Amino acid sequence: MIHVGGASIQIDFAPGSLDVPQRDVVQWIDTAARAVSKYYGKFPVARARVLVVPIADERGVLTGTTWGDVDGFPAFTRMRLGQHTTEQTLASDWTMTHEFVHTALPSLSPDHHWLEEGLATYVEPIARAQIGTLSPEQVWGGMVRDMGKGEPQPGEDGLDQTHTWANTYWAGALFCLMADVSIREKTANGKGLQDALRGILTAGGSIDDDWTISKVLDVGDRATGTAVLADLYKKMGNTSYAPIDLDLMWQRLGIHSGGGKIKFDDHAPWADLRKAITTAR
Ligand SMILES: [Zn+2]
Repeated sequence: MIHVGGASIQIDFAPGSLDVPQRDVVQWIDTAARAVSKYYGKFPVARARVLVVPIADERGVLTGTTWGDVDGFPAFTRMRLGQHTTEQTLASDWTMTHEFVHTALPSLSPDHHWLEEGLATYVEPIARAQIGTLSPEQVWGGMVRDMGKGEPQPGEDGLDQTHTWANTYWAGALFCLMADVSIREKTANGKGLQDALRGILTAGGSIDDDWTISKVLDVGDRATGTAVLADLYKKMGNTSYAPIDLDLMWQRLGIHSGGGKIKFDDHAPWADLRKAITTAR
């Protein structure tokens, strides 16, 4: 049992052997819980259980899955971990943080999985940056590399109708990036997506509760005093939409990439927005 961000997290190990000592696995879970607690201001649920399942002859963090309201726990996460996983793999892993981000959003209907996965994809590196286990260059480098996967393809409908992997994870993440930037623009960088998400959590919206997507977006918008989430959903949720000019987005945020390196331009118009996104608060 560990205590992080006001929550108790019970950690159990299924039968099987792991090369790394259990205390390294506990440390890995603890770090992910701290990242998510930092981002949300507390761990999203009061009690959670993590079941670590060793998988013989494999290496690495194989899969994670999180459910709400299981056996009296508001959140239950199962992590399948290869027997030969190393300490270094655990130290650089993103999966555990991704799973804990899922605990901070109410369960939505299947058409809206893109918001559940998109949020976890977008928030995970930012939460890790806010506790210093990932650099801002790594966060934005990953976004520049992967965000284009979320662009709409010719003939595709809106987010609710397109159930591909790319749409579910990366169009969802792109929705979150656009929401974050737009909230910050409209509030003179006073608020961001982080405030909307904290507002949803404060209103009782965690994984053990079922909400409609309109309730999630309304409560989130109320927390930032904007209508950004509802407006974006109107544009992207149920109808096809034009591709986003990501080159322009990176340029405005002051992110330049070349030769595998990320360089920041602090004179870019949205440089302060970019900094605020990865800054702990
Ligand atoms: Zn996920």
